[in-house]
Parts: sequence; C-alpha cells; structure tokens
Amino acid sequence: MNRIIRKVFMILVVAATALSAASQVERPRLVVGIVVDQMRWDYLYKYYDRWVEGGFKRLLNEGYSCANTMIDYVPTVTACGHATLYTGTTPALHGIAGNDYMIDGRPTSSVKDTTVTGVGTTGSAGKRSPRNLLTTTIGDQIKLGIGPLARVIGVSLKDRAAVLPAGHGADGAYWFDNDTHQFITSTYYMKELPRWVKDFNKKNNKQMKGDVWKDKSGVAITFGMAEAALKNEKLGRDDLTDLLAVSISTTDAAAHTFGVMSGEMEPIYLQLDKELESLLRLLDKEVGRGNYLVFLSADHGGTYSEPHMAANHMPSGRFYDSAVLEETNAELRKRFGVDKLLRDKMEYTFYLDNDLIARHGLDREAVKAEAVKIISGRPEVMWAVDAERASEASIPLEIRERVVKGYNRKRSGEIFVMPLTGYYASWSGDQRGSNHGSWSQSDSHIPLLFYGWKVPHGETTRLTHMTDVAATICAMLHIQAPNACLGQPIEFDE
Ligand SMILES: [Zn+2]
Repeated sequence: MNRIIRKVFMILVVAATALSAASQVERPRLVVGIVVDQMRWDYLYKYYDRWVEGGFKRLLNEGYSCANTMIDYVPTVTACGHATLYTGTTPALHGIAGNDYMIDGRPTSSVKDTTVTGVGTTGSAGKRSPRNLLTTTIGDQIKLGIGPLARVIGVSLKDRAAVLPAGHGADGAYWFDNDTHQFITSTYYMKELPRWVKDFNKKNNKQMKGDVWKDKSGVAITFGMAEAALKNEKLGRDDLTDLLAVSISTTDAAAHTFGVMSGEMEPIYLQLDKELESLLRLLDKEVGRGNYLVFLSADHGGTYSEPHMAANHMPSGRFYDSAVLEETNAELRKRFGVDKLLRDKMEYTFYLDNDLIARHGLDREAVKAEAVKIISGRPEVMWAVDAERASEASIPLEIRERVVKGYNRKRSGEIFVMPLTGYYASWSGDQRGSNHGSWSQSDSHIPLLFYGWKVPHGETTRLTHMTDVAATICAMLHIQAPNACLGQPIEFDE
C-alpha cells in the first residue's frame, strides 16, 4: 500500500470506528450500589489513616466524592434510607414511611408481605417482598429501559436492605435468617434457592452461626455473598447493564450496641475497607476496570451517644417514646375522659386511635391539637407537629421541608416529634448505644462516593441530596429516572 492509499484507509477505519461508537448507547456493564448502614460521613476521615490503599482510599482518591450529601426527609431510618437511595424520592411518595408503619390502620414492617412464603426457611423471616414500595427503583428502570434480561440482585443481612434496593423487578434478593443462620429469599422471587446460594450457605455454615450482626465476620459474610452473586449470576458479562445492590448491616447493629464513637466500631470498619478492596479487585478481574460503575453511600448516619457527649460537656439526652406515649395518653384522658387516644408510636411518629375517637364522638382535630400541645411542652422536645399541616408550623424551612417529605399521608402517624438536637429515641437498657432518626447533621449527613465508568476524580462540597443518587445513576445510563424521583443528576466537576 502506498502512503496515500494507506492514509485514506486509516481515515476510513477511524471514521468507521467513530460511527460504530456513536451508533450504540454507551453504558457500563454493571452498576454496584454499596450502602453502609449507619455510616456517618466523617467515618471516611476518622479511619482514613488506617484504610488500606485499595478500598475507601481507592474510591476517594480515584473517584468522586459528594462531601455534602444530606438526607431530604425525617425520620432518618434504615428502610426509608434504602428506599430513597434507589427510588430517588422520599417517604411521602415511595411509601416506606419508617422501619415500621401502618397500612389501612394495621401495623406492618417495611417489607413484610403475608401473601408470600420463605424460600430456604419455614419461618416468618421469609415473608418479605417489595410490595409496600409504591414507586420504581434504579433496577426497575434498568429493566424497563434496557431490557428484562438485565440482571438485578440485592444482598444484605437485613431483609429491607436487600429487598428495597433490588426493587420490584429484581431477579433475586437475599437476606439473613436468624433461625436457620443462612441466606434466604421468598416466593416473590423464586420457588427454590439457586444452587450457588445453597452452596454458599453450606460452605459458610460455621461462620454464619456466629454473631454476624455485631462482629466483623458479618461484614465478611455479606461481601462473600455479594461476590458469589457476582460470579454465579454472571453479572456484568454483557452490554445489558446489570445491578448488584449490596448493603452492610453489621455497622448499624454494632453502633446501636456500642455507640458510633466506640472502639468496637474500628475493627468492623477496617474489615469493611479490606472487603471493599477485594470486591473492587474482583470487579477488575470479572467485569474489567472501567466497565463498572460503583456508588457507595449510607441509609443514615448516627448520633453521638449520651455518655460520649456528657464526657465532653456537650448537650445530649434521651427521648423515651414509650414514656411519651403513656404520659400523653394520661393527660388526654384528663381532658377528654377517654384512655389511649394515642394508639401507638413508631420511631418519632405517633398515631391517633381514630376508631376510638369516632366511637366516643370526640372532635379529632381537637384531640390532635391537644396531643401536639402536650408533647411540645415536654422539656426534651423541640417541636411536635401535626404532620398533615407541617408546612404551616413555625420551624426553619430546611427542617420543615424534611418533615413534609417524610410524611406519607396514607401510612405515617398524625403527629411527628423532633426532640432537642443531640437527643435520640431510646428503648434499650444499654447505655452506650447510639441511635438515629433525626434531621441533625449527625444523622442526615451521609457519605456519597462514585467510582468507575466515566467518573472523574474530584470532590464537591456543593449541597447534594440522597435523592440525587438514583437521578445521577439513571442519567449516566441514559435511562428514565425512577417514576417518582425528586432528585437531580449530579454533575461531576473535574
Ligand atoms: Zn440503618
């Protein structure tokens, strides 16, 4: 070939390559969502000097950190957080109004479904599905936008942390059963556990009989299960983008027991860091560097425990919701002559007994107003609000908006309570443990890291929201955002 012909040939090759690149939508082969339960944003730096090179440091130093990501609603609890990260919307719309809430006046837990049965267990822990979730998720939009053959799998020790991220259209969600000490699923997804799940359960039987909820072994088991899903479900092997949603629950249970600043948290987070390093290495090997997109965040943070704050001469205290319920009912009885007008409390929300109010011919609005007044008057309470009218309450706009976004009018209680800042709902005899659920920085400032496919290195302290995660992932994938998404895609500044 003479020089001119060769040059023309090369131009044709380049043009053809450019044409074929532009003729198909570019997407990563796999999205991996990692949610660390009760991971405060500042943990990224609390343990920074002890991280290995290939775990959190790899995400921080090669990926993109949204360092000012806030949760858009209250209560900041597990089920709401997982649902919001993957739907891009808040309890007002996705319907997961708490870890527990009422549907048609009946108490239920976030992913409880009595119409399905467990697979891998005969116990009640298997009666789970995403049916209480009212909107679509990232995984659902992948199925709708890219195709039903794209695979979507959720893995976590906690049922809600596996089921909600995986969404309605998932191929599988696997969570831990405390009775059988193994990963299970439900008939919502399948009739029998896949061979690889049975094998995983058998192989790790001894380890899974230990305290997976509060010991670092729980982190290793969860990542082990995620890696087994990656290999056996052949995720990220073709151009149809798959989703692997992994959530780490041990971090939450340990913080509730020992406190967010306790020494017991360190080995758990260092284990998490090492597991992250090996997962990324496995992704490099199985899917290929640059072919996968990772995001890492948390469902909520955690408040400093009262003993820790007291030792540092800082304000803190407890909100004993059972006592508030009982004492408010006693006051209401004095005023209206009827006992138990408040039916129940769940986290920071209180439910009126509307049947009882109707039976006694009481004025519902008057009972509610009186209950709000009584609870607001308590020394440990900053605000108690009529949730339906939260937008009229005299509360700073930023906080008021979170109450509105967290209130689901079909499922939440009528009264929402915010204790003084630094105070937290308490129920156990353990004095060291932390909690979460409030609007405060401790509970609502979460880490948000993106890494991999088309993610530049950088950091922003611009305000970003938990609801932006689903919007960002779907925008990158060029698919429609989940159907009730309120978030905005985050632009990565280089
Ligand atoms: Zn949680």
